[in-house]
Amino acid sequence: MSTFKAPKGTYDLLPPRSATFLAVREAISTPLRNSGYGYVETPGFEDVKLFSRGVGESTDIVSKEMYTLTTKGGEELALRPEGTASVLRAALQGNLHKLGNLPVKLWYSGSYYRYERAQAGRYRHFSQVGAEAIGAEDPALDAELIILADQAYRSLGLRNFRILLNSLGDKECRPVYREALQDFLRGLDLDEDTLRRAEINPLRVLDDKRESVQKQLVGAPLLRDYLCDACKAYHEEVRALVSAAGVVFEDDDKLVRGLDYYTRTTFEFVHDGLGSQSAVGGGGRYDGLSEMIGGPALPSVGWALGVDRTVLALEAEGVELDLPTATSVFAVAIGEEARRTLFGKVTELRRAGIAADFSFGGKGLKGSMKDANRSGARLAVVAGERDLAEGVVQLKDMETGEQRAVALDDLLDAVRAELA
Ligand code: ATP
Ligand code: MG
Repeated sequence: MSTFKAPKGTYDLLPPRSATFLAVREAISTPLRNSGYGYVETPGFEDVKLFSRGVGESTDIVSKEMYTLTTKGGEELALRPEGTASVLRAALQGNLHKLGNLPVKLWYSGSYYRYERAQAGRYRHFSQVGAEAIGAEDPALDAELIILADQAYRSLGLRNFRILLNSLGDKECRPVYREALQDFLRGLDLDEDTLRRAEINPLRVLDDKRESVQKQLVGAPLLRDYLCDACKAYHEEVRALVSAAGVVFEDDDKLVRGLDYYTRTTFEFVHDGLGSQSAVGGGGRYDGLSEMIGGPALPSVGWALGVDRTVLALEAEGVELDLPTATSVFAVAIGEEARRTLFGKVTELRRAGIAADFSFGGKGLKGSMKDANRSGARLAVVAGERDLAEGVVQLKDMETGEQRAVALDDLLDAVRAELA
């Protein structure tokens, strides 16, 4: 072991578990790629103001969790704590919204950084796959994203997740509700911090996880009762489209999210096997974000799913992904001449698209056969001097243990036939 360890709140992805992470990223992105979303990749850090303006000064993400740094050149940067602000910034900078085909639909996959209290399911470096549909106000778009996330989770074999849905209203009706909620919160027995939050961002008090606060929130005014007619109609249409797709959700009046930019549709995916870190993904509509970061009005909607927690959810449900074994053929060479010949054959197999590996390290027959076993390969190709003198190798089926001699020149065809 080296003297260094991964920093607190981080962990390394190592084989074999890392294969599950790749498969989860793949499974989440497949429905997106199949639905008109194009891949976007942005830098791991941005101007800190993108997040303080976009995500919001009063949010935990910006006020407590952001990794900020000043470069040698004096720039104030932040490691990205989330994806939406960056993706929207990139779409605006690249003028994608001016090409005339709105919505601009994008998906991404990457690392995010938050200085959080590290615990199971809550890390300082974590991984998300996300989707953003930029520049259209259309309930079908909100529904599409919810349906695609559901499809992604189901394709992985996840079952015990729930979809929580709410509407946060818009710039017409939310301010009225905000005031009513503030009036209500002012009458409660809350600590100073929470009272301050009630003044800056009262909706987030609804999200307070403490029992002492939740108890007092019974009877709080509900946004549902304040939604304007346009927001109500929009929300009903989203609900109807999601339902028509056979996707089950729960209406959650108290669902608010930790980012300031959300309007109207908000949703969260929760998994019941994860204890308090139960959110495996979340998203919603953010009609005002573009203007907040200096762009034109571009109503948009998106989500981000947490890869780490999705893997934990799979483990909690005991779902084993059906991952193809990495290696199909393992070559075991006994002696120098056989090493040279079989190494050449491995190269030939690989160039033909067959996953092949080789007994490196000059081990004997026994050690090499152990490696062959461990690789999970269906076939082993074994050869020593005597085989080569006869121009053959032994092709062994690792499941049945059956072995037969195959002419060196016929090896590729024989392997192809066995694997077919
Ligand atoms: P939470 O309420 O658990 O803090 P969040 O609302 O901050 O979640 P989002 O910003 O919506 O989370 O991010 C979307 C998803 O990314 C979450 O649902 C979760 O799966 C994942 N995620 C967020 N923060 C972390 C973290 N610190 N470690 C691991 N996964 C995370
Ligand atoms: Mg959080």
